[in-house]
Amino acid sequence: MNLTIPYHLENYIHGALIPPSSKSYLPNYNPATGELWNEVPDSNEKDIELAVAAAKKAFPQWSTSSNEFRFRILNRIAELIEENFETLALAETNDNGKPLWLSKQVEIPRAASNFRFFATGIMHFASESHAMEDHAINYTLRQPIGIAGCISPWNLPLYLFTWKIAPALAAGNCVIAKPSEVTPVTAYLLSKICIEAGLPAGVLNIIHGQGPKAGEAIVSHPDIKVISFTGSTRAGERIASIAAPKFKKLSLELGGKNPALIFADCDWDKTMDELLRVAFSNQGEICLCGSRLLIEASVYEKFKTDFLSRVKTLTVGDPLEASTKQGAIVSEAHYQKILRCIETAKQEGGKILIGGNAVKLSGRCANGYFIEPTVIEGLGSSCSTNQEEIFGPVITLQPFTTEEEALQLANDSSYGLAATVWTKDLSRAHRLSSQLQTGIVWVNCWLMRDLRTPFGGVKNSGVGREGGWEALRFFTEPKNVCIKIN
Ligand code: NAD
Repeated sequence: MNLTIPYHLENYIHGALIPPSSKSYLPNYNPATGELWNEVPDSNEKDIELAVAAAKKAFPQWSTSSNEFRFRILNRIAELIEENFETLALAETNDNGKPLWLSKQVEIPRAASNFRFFATGIMHFASESHAMEDHAINYTLRQPIGIAGCISPWNLPLYLFTWKIAPALAAGNCVIAKPSEVTPVTAYLLSKICIEAGLPAGVLNIIHGQGPKAGEAIVSHPDIKVISFTGSTRAGERIASIAAPKFKKLSLELGGKNPALIFADCDWDKTMDELLRVAFSNQGEICLCGSRLLIEASVYEKFKTDFLSRVKTLTVGDPLEASTKQGAIVSEAHYQKILRCIETAKQEGGKILIGGNAVKLSGRCANGYFIEPTVIEGLGSSCSTNQEEIFGPVITLQPFTTEEEALQLANDSSYGLAATVWTKDLSRAHRLSSQLQTGIVWVNCWLMRDLRTPFGGVKNSGVGREGGWEALRFFTEPKNVCIKIN
């Protein structure tokens, strides 16, 4: 199939690729080279109106189609993602700056898995029934809600986009989705894949553009009854303030400042290797990355030696090179923000143990946005470096002496997305898992995903859960039917 990328990307509305009604576009840069490589529709409320009209037209047929019909189409989309995974991975890397091998190994396969998982999930989805002895029986009808709005960020562009769209469609809703304006290309290619897969017109509409314009037009539209958002806590607050008075169903997956609790009894070498991923995968631009490493004081110095020697091996380079471990930061604005955070850490009294600087590459990437993996120590829990999300390759180390202190430091955050615990003591692992104030705890591992499990955060990391039955339930409206028997 033809997956060429035009200079002007287009919206996908009512089954067709069309320009934005304003005819105006936003520049999209390749962060590894700093070069403009295409332009993105700067859509507004008129485009959202067109998409809503298309979705309304498609809803009666899609919402009453058989589960098997929806399974076949969504599964076909998964197959087409797999068949075109080289093209998609390259687009992802050119949009986002992550190493190409990472796009190929993680991002694109997971996007296909999302469609396959929810395609098969809807074939097995069941609703509840509650018998009242021999008086009556209640059953829960779970019906599609209508039009769902799905808004996603730039860090795992196709993966997080499809993680929302797939369950919404599988459950029988029509969808209006907006990818990040910073990384729009894989979502554009997904439009073409959906056309090829035979998705009926209007069932999925992909609108490009800016958050405050196209995004808010989705959130505030009266006919879009359910919103699934992944992004910053700041934008999540704004979205909640618009959606809540309209009583919309809302799922918010927001920022994090995730702790890693490292005990002296951990499986040392395996832990060191894994922590390198925890801290610096995707240049630290994963909401689940651990950015606060809490280390038992008795092994703190040994930790520093062993961990820093591994950080030194993280080659910063051209994302297209197989040897590159750290690619480019997603945009110039984000690159500048991370550099400012490093300056703040120094002003707060932090000691830079390694990194701390921008990296200037030569050749193709001479104007790209690269930053050294950076490790900082000497900062207390309350300083902004340990409280604010940086969302880049910058982490801090803090020692602790007791399990209670480790827990107190870990929970001393307004965020509550994910935590990792590194220990061979099983009782301790269970104890901490129940007391950590996060939506996800990984013990001796990180980023292992079983798509059936609930996913999401607590505190300022959001409300609602995605994943598995939680997602299919979220995108359906439960109606109880009570039938009297005697
Ligand atoms: P962002 O909030 O700036 O943007 C996310 C998306 O929301 C984009 O599509 C953007 O255009 C849109 N948007 C922005 N303002 C909006 C508004 N007022 N109304 C409607 N839409 C709006 O976030 P980002 O910089 O793209 O992504 C990074 C953030 O996402 C980090 O905070 C990270 O932790 C978070 N994130 C969270 C998860 C999670 O699962 N909890 C996963 C990935 C990323």
